[in-house]
Formats: sequence, C-alpha cells, structure tokens
Amino acid sequence: MHEFSIAYEIFDQVINTANAHGATEVKKLILQMGRLSHTNPEQLSFCFNVLAEGSIAENADFVVEMVSPTLECECGYEGEIDEKQIRESSALRSELLAYVAAMECPICGKQANIKGGRELIIKSIEIETEEDRTAE
Ligand SMILES: [Zn+2]
Repeated sequence: MHEFSIAYEIFDQVINTANAHGATEVKKLILQMGRLSHTNPEQLSFCFNVLAEGSIAENADFVVEMVSPTLECECGYEGEIDEKQIRESSALRSELLAYVAAMECPICGKQANIKGGRELIIKSIEIETEEDRTAE
C-alpha cells in the first residue's frame, strides 16, 4: 500500500525530530497534503497509528491539512483552483487529474499550468519533554 510507505517515512521523521528535542511524548502532528498527491488521508492516518503503537507518538493527534493546487499561466495569471470546482469534477483521482490538467486560464483562455497540490509536508510537531512535565 502506497500510504503505508509514506506513513513510515513520516513516522520515522517524527520520531527522529522528537528524539532530537528530548521528547517524552508526541502530542500532535500537522501534515500538509496536496489534493493531487494521490494519498488518502484516512488511510495514512490509520497506517501512522499502526506504526506508532507502543512508541512515544502512540497518542498523537494526526491532523491533515489539505493544500489546493494553483493555476499558473504564461499571461501572468496565478490563482488558486476553486475547491468547489475540484469537488464537483469527480471523486475519482484520475478524472480529477485529467480535469485539472486541462484547466484553462480564466483571463486569456489558454491552457494553464498546475503548480503545487502534490506536496506532503510535516508542518509541525507538538511534543512534550521531561522539562514540561516537571514544570507542570
Ligand atoms: Zn492566461
């Protein structure tokens, strides 16, 4: 499963970062995911939880923020693709990609380029350290 290998990379990165900061617990994790990244957030969250079992990230909140692709045209136009348009296009990823790839610039009508929307980034990690505990 595609999501499992991504979840593993995220888990690995989270644990490394958390350990580097002397974390005793990972409380929250915010992930930015492009709408065109071919990744299912629910499956990713599920895989992450399976991997995190028994680790310091076991009870971490797994939050996924969806990022929309933007449209960029040679005429200078740059703008976000309407989320409503994406939703209405189709639930199927392949159709969505085909739809987005054929999008026209709203200014000049030429075929515009798609930028972004495929990213998968760990935006932030919230941890608790031994110091936090003694401070409480
Ligand atoms: Zn244009």
